[in-house]
Amino acid sequence: MTLSVAIIGSGPSAFYTADALVKSGIDARIDLIERLPAPFGLIRYGVAPDHESTRKVSRSFDKTARGPSLSFFGNVEVGRDVSLDELRRLYDAVVLAVGAPLDRPLGIPGGDKNGVYGSAAFVGWYNGHPDFRALAPDLNVTAAAVVGIGNVGLDVARLLVRSRPELEATDMPDYAVEAIVNSRITDVYLLGRRSAAHAAFTIGELREMGELEGASPIVDAASLPTSFDDVPEEDRRIKAKMVDMLRGFASLPQDRPKRVHFRFNAAPKEVLGRERVEGLRIERTRVEGGRAVGTGETYDIPCGLVVAAIGYRSPQIQGARFDERQGLYVNQGGLIDAGLYAVGWAMRGPSGVIGTNKIDGQTVAKHIVENLKTGAGKRGRDGLADLLKQRGARPTSYADWGRIDAAEIARARKGAPRGKFTTVAEMLALLDAR
Ligand code: NAP
Repeated sequence: MTLSVAIIGSGPSAFYTADALVKSGIDARIDLIERLPAPFGLIRYGVAPDHESTRKVSRSFDKTARGPSLSFFGNVEVGRDVSLDELRRLYDAVVLAVGAPLDRPLGIPGGDKNGVYGSAAFVGWYNGHPDFRALAPDLNVTAAAVVGIGNVGLDVARLLVRSRPELEATDMPDYAVEAIVNSRITDVYLLGRRSAAHAAFTIGELREMGELEGASPIVDAASLPTSFDDVPEEDRRIKAKMVDMLRGFASLPQDRPKRVHFRFNAAPKEVLGRERVEGLRIERTRVEGGRAVGTGETYDIPCGLVVAAIGYRSPQIQGARFDERQGLYVNQGGLIDAGLYAVGWAMRGPSGVIGTNKIDGQTVAKHIVENLKTGAGKRGRDGLADLLKQRGARPTSYADWGRIDAAEIARARKGAPRGKFTTVAEMLALLDAR
């Protein structure tokens, strides 16, 4: 009997799971259930707009989505339109591929002041995510601090100093392009609580900081480590290369109109200011046993914007065991409970590259194929469609996405890949206007 599988989410971990199920040759109907009318999750709303080539992976997801066993239910929110328990009754297997779209709090005094944003919100805003369309961060400030030296920290810092032509060539929405190019920001401070040898960013992404049209990377060579003894042995070579690259930044022209200052051994202690951010108090650290330890010595960075790029949490869905501390689902190799799985960031937290999700998808698909083999005659897709109809929900199909996609491409700025619709209402209105 045909197996019915529901995958909640339509980002990379969802598509890699679907693809692995299809490739297993099992007789299955696979439904992707997505909260937004548009698919691709992190690819569309997380990947930096100036990294268009990374988004090309959605072409292979598109092929998967058009396969005969797949169906897309966009604009359907689990917890609002249908519960997880209902899905588990309707499907043989349910896979949580919900990613980690929520910010971890900065957790320091003043962290709730106006002008402090988490990177999920900030990135969502400049990427046209409907949840953050209205964020409207005040960029009428001269300096910004970005906390966290992972690739997201680099993305945020880089985009804040990109020039108009650089941004206009991307699919960043007009409102964000205008806010950034009209902002008074000249200095961005990128803050790592550990040393440059412990930075989480990767070398290709670091290299871009030396290639910006209108901004210079500023690194104090004296702040860079010369020993890599406390870095895991397998990472030493690449970390040494990254530190060399940072050292090389000192020889680049330092006279561009904007600057990105790399500050290491710099842990945020307190956000300063009355209601709005006026600065960030930093404590110098040293690294002991791989951890940042405060030295008690502090200094202040005047800034009007703080973006915390310190990692993410998964959204909690009622009916699945959740690890509050780690912000992900309690699972063993993806298995949460009989017939219930997690993949990607919902399974292992926000780490790795897009391709890492492929392994997760393959692991969980293998488990499903080996353990379920055949369906139990559950109603699956038809049952879900009936339930959504009864509830007056307005699911969007993959063909609907095709129309949104075509309209976005047609309305792109000159030289840009697309002009995203940034509200659900706009996307639905386009579909209703047919
Ligand atoms: P990440 O790589 O885990 O980096 C998080 C950074 O935040 C680390 O420097 C971490 O420092 C710091 N941090 C955490 N808690 C902190 C705190 N309380 N105070 C100060 N600093 C704190 O996370 P991410 O940048 O969000 O990226 C998530 C994943 O997506 C990563 O695997 C990343 O490589 C990937 N990604 C890739 C790309 C790309 O390939 N172009 C782009 C974006 C994201 P410690 O190390 O000391 O904990």
